[in-house]
Amino acid sequence: RPRRLPVRLERNPYEVIIGTGLIERAGALLATVLPQKRVVVVSDTTVAELYLHPLLESLSDSGFAVQSIVVPPGEQSKSLGEFQRVTDAMLEQKVERRTAVIALGGGVIGDLAGFAASATLRGLPFVQMPTTLLSQVDSSVGGKTGINTSWGKNLLGAFHQPAMVLADISSLATLPVREIRAGYAEIVKAGLIGDPDLFTWCERHGASVISQDPDALAEAVERACAFKAAIVTDDEFEQKPEGGRALLNLGHTFGHALEAEMGYNGSLLHGEGVSIGLRLAFMLSVRLGYCPQADLDRVTAHLDETGMPARISQLGRHFEARTLLDHMTRDKKMHDGKLKFVLVRGIGQAFTCRDVPAQAVHDVLVEDG
Ligand code: NAD
Ligand code: ZN
Repeated sequence: RPRRLPVRLERNPYEVIIGTGLIERAGALLATVLPQKRVVVVSDTTVAELYLHPLLESLSDSGFAVQSIVVPPGEQSKSLGEFQRVTDAMLEQKVERRTAVIALGGGVIGDLAGFAASATLRGLPFVQMPTTLLSQVDSSVGGKTGINTSWGKNLLGAFHQPAMVLADISSLATLPVREIRAGYAEIVKAGLIGDPDLFTWCERHGASVISQDPDALAEAVERACAFKAAIVTDDEFEQKPEGGRALLNLGHTFGHALEAEMGYNGSLLHGEGVSIGLRLAFMLSVRLGYCPQADLDRVTAHLDETGMPARISQLGRHFEARTLLDHMTRDKKMHDGKLKFVLVRGIGQAFTCRDVPAQAVHDVLVEDG
């Protein structure tokens, strides 16, 4: 039986449904929430080859008129060029105000299709059908959509909440283990931010998640989604100066710097950067006296035991601390020249710190690099 998780947003409440075989049952599930029996499915070529046909069949069986738009796989598709291609195709197909857009794929497709849905005719109903672990536990819930520009990642976008999220655990069977690990980093992150029981659960079951045990996957997705849903419900538009959605960036300032240096070419996945970034955030918190060393040791041990990237040196390349620091000071999360970081007082106790000395960050990068 699928697990149903409510996301209790005041204006746009919706459900995240987590289970197996949901792609084949999508038509019946969506018929209950969509305003019109008409949908446009957006996917990438890799995912389309695996799952588009059964999805379209299920939708047609439930009486939906279906169209589809397929883009190349990878981060490069979160571009203005693909945004234009997708919106042009939707307009050419004469979508109407109540025609729904379904994102079938990972976070790239969710972000691109979601942004296209938010902008076309000033907002079409939207459905997330995440097919990567990362998108099931993180990006499909919360309503952030967007694309990249030459000025940086995710700089054009909108908040556009889905009408429903269908996380089909069965689709993860075809996902490469490297992508599973990348998604697992965001699950560990959720525990480290504010759910110590989730981190303890990870210590016991992380290996089963990574070996793609379906029960472990379903529980991990449910726990991580529940955590994200609670944060998003509390701060839908990321307006809380402390806490709230900003905490979801734990490990990300470091991670983004590593991603930028590696060049978004697949050599470092987002979740791999986050995995290393989580440990660095704990190292920084220990160095500044906020967090006990024992908690850092637990995090390091867990990442090592599950084969997760934990150290910059594992990337097989030397990075100048100065270069990485430069990326962080260019990060959009900087205010008044001070370094703003999500730090921890311990496992499950993240907080926003506004005045982190650049020297301490530099020292941590030197210590690890
Ligand atoms: P992705 O969408 O690129 O998917 C990774 C790869 O896996 C792709 O090559 C894809 O074709 C393939 N794939 C997808 N599902 C598959 C399946 N079931 N079987 C086999 N292959 C499959 O990457 P991702 O890691 O899912 O998402 C990363 C993106 O998500 C980034 O652009 C990031 O910025 C974004 N993101 C957004 C949010 C948000 O709140 N909107 C949060 C976190 C991340
Ligand atoms: Zn992330």
